[in-house]
Amino acid sequence: MPDAPAIDVARLSVLACFAHPDDEGFSSGGLLAMLAAGGARITLVCATNGDVGEISDPSLATPENLWQVRKQELRNAMDITGITDVRFLDYRDSGMDGTDDNRHPNAYCNADDDAIIGHLAGIINEVNPHLILTHDPSGGYGHPDHKTMCNHATAAAQRASDPDAATPLLYYTCFPRSVFQRMWQEMTDRGITPPFAVDAVDTLGTPDDEVTTTLDVSQWVETKIASLSCHRTQIHDDGPFEQLPAEVVHRLMGTEYYQLSAPTGAVDLLAAI
Ligand SMILES: [Zn+2]
Repeated sequence: MPDAPAIDVARLSVLACFAHPDDEGFSSGGLLAMLAAGGARITLVCATNGDVGEISDPSLATPENLWQVRKQELRNAMDITGITDVRFLDYRDSGMDGTDDNRHPNAYCNADDDAIIGHLAGIINEVNPHLILTHDPSGGYGHPDHKTMCNHATAAAQRASDPDAATPLLYYTCFPRSVFQRMWQEMTDRGITPPFAVDAVDTLGTPDDEVTTTLDVSQWVETKIASLSCHRTQIHDDGPFEQLPAEVVHRLMGTEYYQLSAPTGAVDLLAAI
């Protein structure tokens, strides 16, 4: 792969496409904070409003208004990250595979693929991104909405056609399998029950050899955590991640992983940031 040139972040346009409020933070909160601080123009597209997520504290939301609360939580989070262009596609969270929510008529996994791809391609033509960030094909822990967004953003990047624009680099955000395994170990060593079964730990996440780009975002971890903490309905004080010591959380969050998916043979711009 050729050496990447040094990058003027302030000249970058970035499009981030995720499925739910808070996905942006877990997968690329450090990179987004770094890009925003450097003056990049960033557009965040969120496909659903996280309608069927858990509610950590009943004083924060009801099942009926969770979708509205989570939209505001995302806006609050992006105020901290430094992103003002936040766009919702307003589909309904499809829930995990095999749940009744999969069959809801407005569930994102049942949406008209062509319409969404066209919509995203229009946004790509509008903002002319140098970088597009989205979920990887594994969906991290396999959420159907993550996989659907990966498919839509990938197809949109191919369909968008502005002859005057540079071809954007499409990056998938990755949770490498070895990171899941390390997290599982960190939890079990401390007597914390991990949020996934032991037999899942060898199949979850992105195969390590598909990661092309490992970023040290340790400088941006405080911003990443502050932004994530705005997703208050999703934070359970007694949750497995929340029980880990702060230094372990900082260590886990201080590195982010990406796969440069397209175009083939492109120079890895992220590696030069
Ligand atoms: Zn999600």
